[in-house]
Amino acid sequence: MKLIDGKALAETLQLHLKDEVEALVKKGIVPGLVVILVGENPASQVYVRNKEKTALKLGFHSKVVRLPADTSEADLLTLIEEYNQDEAWHGILVQLPLPKHISEEKVLLAIDPNKDVDGFHPMNMGRLWAGNPVMIPSTPAGIMEMFKAYQVDLSGQRAVVVGRSNIVGKPMAQLMMMGNATVTIAHSRTKNLSALTKSADILVVAIGVAKFITADMVKKGAVVIDVGMNRDESLKLCGDVDFDEVKDVARLITPVPGGVGPMTITMLMEQTVRAAQLASQK
Ligand code: NDP
Repeated sequence: MKLIDGKALAETLQLHLKDEVEALVKKGIVPGLVVILVGENPASQVYVRNKEKTALKLGFHSKVVRLPADTSEADLLTLIEEYNQDEAWHGILVQLPLPKHISEEKVLLAIDPNKDVDGFHPMNMGRLWAGNPVMIPSTPAGIMEMFKAYQVDLSGQRAVVVGRSNIVGKPMAQLMMMGNATVTIAHSRTKNLSALTKSADILVVAIGVAKFITADMVKKGAVVIDVGMNRDESLKLCGDVDFDEVKDVARLITPVPGGVGPMTITMLMEQTVRAAQLASQK
């Protein structure tokens, strides 16, 4: 078994990104990322703080707009439109989940697709499924970078994605299909899941159930990517894969923490740099 060190890879990619930011700044363009957080979801607050910290470290122009939980949908949409029009901001990100009274669909539709660095706008999802991606959701984008760095050739491989969310499972499946893997998406209604996961040369798990994937569900020599972020019985951070068991079966495996997580944030920054480069070419 070999570990896929997401933390180290993220640090290397961030060094390259910093150079790219410096080159842009010399041309008078400072990549700008604005993150909008509505309400006080504790997990969201941590994510947003990390995004801000990383953006500042890389030399971005960065801002977090913290709005009260009772902000109206109309006010949020107006604010998004202001950032759409403001050329200083190349990336706009509205942290999900939103309070119940605000339509996530309307909010995602309101963001200029060229500033949608999360890649959740229906136009960007459509572009991805059409095979011409512009903005790609960060988590699957980070996993594709891991495949590249660890020379995992997807072509002709049997890949199984467990989880079908818009932010991880679905885009992950499409990206691997674009890499010429034969992909199956599994979910909570899938029958005989372990037979399916055991057939996978590449297994990506994004379900949010602590240590769900056990060694008997994994093919010997498989590449296992664990997206999950959960707390175990002793409240320790753990993934959807039972790492201690599965590490002895897998050829390559991501740890939690230190795997997919650090790559996700890095890819968000990379996407913002791309958005700034694209804007500068206009
Ligand atoms: P969602 O809750 O949106 O989706 C979970 C998916 O898993 C659903 O498709 C669901 O099926 C499926 N599922 C749930 N239980 C089972 C089961 N027992 N067997 C098979 N499938 C199951 O989650 P996300 O995609 O947003 O996130 C998944 C996990 O990844 C979470 O732990 C989250 O915290 C983590 N995450 C980590 C990130 C990182 O950067 N490291 C980024 C994003 C997420 P169905 O559709 O049928 O309900």
